[in-house]
Amino acid sequence: MSSGQLDETEVFQDTIVAIATAQGPAGVGIVRLSGGSAVDIAKKLVKKPLEYELKPNYARLVDFIDPEGELIDQGIVLYFKSPFSFTGEDVIECQVHGAPVVLTHLVQVAIAYGARLADPGEFSKRAFLNGKMDLTQAEAVADLVSSQSNAQARAALRTLKGAFSSKVQLLSDALVALRAEVEARIDFVDEALDFMSVNQVSQKIEQIIFQVKRLLTTASKGVNLTQGVQVALVGEPNAGKSSLLNRLLGYDRAIVSEYAGTTRDTLSETALISGIPFRFVDTAGLRKTDSKIEKLGIERTHEALKESDCIVSVHDLTVGLNASESMSQNELKNDERVIWVLNKSDLVGEEAVKQKVEQQQLCSNSDLFNKKYAVVSALSGSGLEDLERVLVNQVNGQEMAACDFSARTRHVEALNRCVLYLEQSTVQLDESSWDLLAEDLRFGHQALQEITGTFSSDELLGKIFSSFCIGK
Ligand code: GDP
Repeated sequence: MSSGQLDETEVFQDTIVAIATAQGPAGVGIVRLSGGSAVDIAKKLVKKPLEYELKPNYARLVDFIDPEGELIDQGIVLYFKSPFSFTGEDVIECQVHGAPVVLTHLVQVAIAYGARLADPGEFSKRAFLNGKMDLTQAEAVADLVSSQSNAQARAALRTLKGAFSSKVQLLSDALVALRAEVEARIDFVDEALDFMSVNQVSQKIEQIIFQVKRLLTTASKGVNLTQGVQVALVGEPNAGKSSLLNRLLGYDRAIVSEYAGTTRDTLSETALISGIPFRFVDTAGLRKTDSKIEKLGIERTHEALKESDCIVSVHDLTVGLNASESMSQNELKNDERVIWVLNKSDLVGEEAVKQKVEQQQLCSNSDLFNKKYAVVSALSGSGLEDLERVLVNQVNGQEMAACDFSARTRHVEALNRCVLYLEQSTVQLDESSWDLLAEDLRFGHQALQEITGTFSSDELLGKIFSSFCIGK
């Protein structure tokens, strides 16, 4: 794996340009240029007053003109000189009126002067490649931009400020020190040096595994906060799954029909509840059927169930439950992820609801205490707040909203891989298996460094030589 880091002298020669602000009319819009020719292009774009000089970090009110000298717009030009810019290259920002035609015109003229339209995420990619930020921070920029709640934005900002990277770095440092010890032991087997015993190394690895697992727990919460908690809606056809989904989302996304089996495919939509994005998947339900199309839908339901963090099992209070037909109830009985929803409460009285709860034994005593069910009417909206509270509790939402940092699935996968390699490294560890141990530690370390994108074998060598007085 390469370091991803460029040589210090290596810079991008081509200059990229793009509209940095959102599409559509706005008060102000920004066109951003980055690269070796950004300043030259800016000088051509700007109609120079006599005393004009493009000074770094100064805002100047200027006229932006096209090659014919026609005015494009009046606005502010900002120059961030390399390396003190977002990308590390020379960056020019042109702030003009946020009219899409003006912004597009400015981009076209910049292209005519030699710039190239930037690829998606290319400014952040350059910032990473030029060592301005690591991979998790670059990813956090994207997560911050797309955040929908304060909790998400806060977490992304913490990652951007290095909260996640610094934890990965600490673990990485611990692993490097251990690898240095092990590698030195292999290379200098005949030297009378004071090396750690097998037991000490094993203990050290256990400590690191413990720390990685702790980070894994926080990172998993960060993933849910960033990417959404997946919730599958299951239940008999006509129980009211689509109606409930529409209620939770606040608009008509799923087609509601009075004929059983309408929702044959899976739909997915995200709703923010207490700042946490819940990704609801409306499934085709679970019931015995001879219809090929419905069977396909039921297969997808099973897939959605496997992937879901939480399952909302919807029941129609007006319908008696036939246990032999109710696959959903039977299949999900012992599943910890399940929340039971008793729907259509508007059609039955309070006493009837109580009886149903007892009769159908949907909630065991412990469920009642943990409040893993809600009585609702998807039609009127009553009980929805209660359901939302149950949902947030079920996924430890309060903890998640206060998560230390944002994260992505790829980070969790890398941390998991790291744990696997480290656990493998201690299996049958004895005096004859240092080579195998070194190899597993190397893979574990690489997995960690994939997170921040900073793997470098030179780093390891540097550590080895600086922490051991080898030349003596
Ligand atoms: P699905 O097949 O589980 O997705 O069920 P739908 O959401 O399509 O609902 C089936 C029927 O039940 C529709 O006619 C809905 O209007 C009706 N329905 C759903 N929820 C309620 C409710 O809480 N009260 C009443 N009275 N009708 C409901």
